[in-house]
Amino acid sequence: MTEPYQISFFGATNSGKSTLVNAIAGQKVSLVSDRPGTTTDPVRKRIELPEIGPCVLVDTAGYGDGGELGSERERMTRQVIDSTDVAVLLLSGNPEDAKWQKELDERDVPVVAVEDRNVEFGALIKRIAAVLPKVEERFLTGRLVHHGSVVVLVMPQDSEAPKGRIILPQVRVLRELLDRRCIPVCCTPDKLQDALKTSPDLVITDSQVFGLVNAAIPPEMPLTSFSILLSAEKGDIGVMTEGARAIGGLKDGSRVLIAEACTHVPNTEDIGRVKIPAMLRKKANIVVDVSAGNDFPDDLSVYSLIIHCGGCTVNSKLVRSRIRKALLSGVPITNYGLALAYMHGILDRVSLP
Ligand code: SF4
Repeated sequence: MTEPYQISFFGATNSGKSTLVNAIAGQKVSLVSDRPGTTTDPVRKRIELPEIGPCVLVDTAGYGDGGELGSERERMTRQVIDSTDVAVLLLSGNPEDAKWQKELDERDVPVVAVEDRNVEFGALIKRIAAVLPKVEERFLTGRLVHHGSVVVLVMPQDSEAPKGRIILPQVRVLRELLDRRCIPVCCTPDKLQDALKTSPDLVITDSQVFGLVNAAIPPEMPLTSFSILLSAEKGDIGVMTEGARAIGGLKDGSRVLIAEACTHVPNTEDIGRVKIPAMLRKKANIVVDVSAGNDFPDDLSVYSLIIHCGGCTVNSKLVRSRIRKALLSGVPITNYGLALAYMHGILDRVSLP
């Protein structure tokens, strides 16, 4: 499944971004007003565009209004850059335009500059399509399976699992296995022994039960996790795997950032806020900070390690932007699945796609 492109609209407040987004979407996505600063939080709209396909249009709050909330609007606008595949920059003669153009260039975001807010949409979409980064269509399960492979999927349905549905990474893997004409066998951990009677070619587990599953299967049976497959798709599996080894160097006082890409209400079995911190603290007196959603700290230099979630609800661009920031700050970064594999002593045993 190809993730939708994110096309974000930048420009000074009241430069016509919302009008343009509404016109392209063919509906009122953002409130339009002559009053500067009407848009505050970024507004997202998922649509299908000719020549582009599925994409998310993001109307940002804008910059340069100097209002009371001006700096907060700019901070939120800047965060949108992290997940942007193409930026449409409305030039309105604002002195800040050049500064934002430079920032987008420095962050390697392709920019379509628009001077006329009455631009013809067909022509604008063509210009956007021309600069879209090429996305390589990849399978989540990569070379780990082939036509006819039997794959056991271990999917705990504990109190952390959402009621009445299966979480996105599991749905995506299951669908892909069906598309690839594999034979998926889904089970909860208590039924693993029964599922193993199918002599699977691969076991994909929720990382939270890595230890239990690893102990239950023969050492030669390929094993990976949903989170690792997602990490390989969205980020840089090499960097993330090396990052997990930094857990070995943590000591009393080390600071670790747990970064969740979306906001959700944590519960007592929360993997990022409860289980991973508890495992880290068994090793040493480690300080754990948590960031969620768009809030990712600007200053990463205080951290010895960043452990990122699988990022199932965000795009690859955002995860890669965060990896880049971590590397520029000299801070190792890994993800939940790889961190758990390391802490269970099986990092070198798990299969990477
Ligand atoms: S984005 Fe991250 S925190 Fe949110 S559900 Fe997906 S893996 Fe969990």
